[in-house]
Amino acid sequence: LFTNVPLAPVDPIIGVSQAYKADPSPNKVDVSVGAYRDEQAKPYVLKCVRAAEERLLGATKEYLPIDGIPEFNLASAQLLYGKAMNGQEKRMVTVQTLSGTGAVRLGVIFIRKYLPAGTTVYASRPTWVNHHNICKESGVPSAEYTYYDNKNNCLNFEGMIADMRAAPNGSVFILHLCAHNPTGCDPSKEQWGIIADVMAEKKHIPFVDCAYQGYASGDLDNDAYSARLFFERGFEMFSAQSYSKNFGLYGERAGALTIVSHSEAAIPKMLSQLKMDIRAMYSSPPTHGARLVATVLGDPALRALWIDELKQMSGRILRVRKELYDALVARNVPGDWSHIVKQIGMFTYTGLSPAQVEYIVKKYHIYLLASGRVSIAGLNSKSVPYFADAIADAVKV
Ligand code: PMP
Repeated sequence: LFTNVPLAPVDPIIGVSQAYKADPSPNKVDVSVGAYRDEQAKPYVLKCVRAAEERLLGATKEYLPIDGIPEFNLASAQLLYGKAMNGQEKRMVTVQTLSGTGAVRLGVIFIRKYLPAGTTVYASRPTWVNHHNICKESGVPSAEYTYYDNKNNCLNFEGMIADMRAAPNGSVFILHLCAHNPTGCDPSKEQWGIIADVMAEKKHIPFVDCAYQGYASGDLDNDAYSARLFFERGFEMFSAQSYSKNFGLYGERAGALTIVSHSEAAIPKMLSQLKMDIRAMYSSPPTHGARLVATVLGDPALRALWIDELKQMSGRILRVRKELYDALVARNVPGDWSHIVKQIGMFTYTGLSPAQVEYIVKKYHIYLLASGRVSIAGLNSKSVPYFADAIADAVKV
């Protein structure tokens, strides 16, 4: 019965991570996965999360409502939209999701069902690989818009705007809130303003993917700039929030989907449809991660601790960026490496070619993606010199 099932291709990120795990070398370094590591290269459980866990010990394991914990949903919308919400909650609907992936997936299903047939979802080139998988598996056409200038290691803003203008009116554009994955390269505030102008002219719909709020600048409000701009400009829009990185809740699967409508009357109907989809897929979301987030966001002392820890995490990443840049300069590695310190968030898009990456993986047992993306959070003061040596060697290849 199942002999004709073809083998699916291995996800590029998961595949590299598996190869790292299987490598017996004592020198191996993993900079493939977008997960925070401390200075000892160990996973880090936030102190605010531990404190919330203590409070939650013994909490019941009853089912949550289909759309999740109401306090979590409201706190999530407030965290992202802040004062921009300005009492306009009635024209927004937020549901708890299986982290950021689940939020994007649920939003894309909603697009298929309730936006005009054939509406295309545009994602940046390059983007988080799962955007296209999700669209494909949800039966929604997807396409790419220009984003990165590989030659100059920066945003290709003119190309991005030209592609937005060329797309059919009413298309959906997935935009990374901040700390673009994989390039670490975001539009400036002024550029966001122009993007919003063009999106409005073309009646495009923003779908803001928010996986790194707090990770780009260490300031939650500053990082939420683009979502708030679209909201304040009156767009109908989607946002998908993930608490994987900023709360370190990767495996707990805590996230939220918000859809903003012009019509208050549409909201109860939209919620009813989202609940139908959730019910049919997994009935109700998991409890633990969302309870942790709601507990921390709802308690001023824990919230302050969280903000402090976020600053520490993003601060360490900034420091490591600088160390890596300095190490490359000190080794006189040919080329301009300033993009490493200009890029923000967890990742740097090194500009290393697939052949150079392969060389580094084979010879140095340092695991990065074939695209040249490096998770800076996977490095520390000990591994930076080793990595810089590897790059200095690989660029000669
Ligand atoms: N969007 C982007 C751009 C991401 O980088 C990620 C995490 N890699 C996600 C969404 C979703 O992650 P998760 O499902 O773990 O929240």
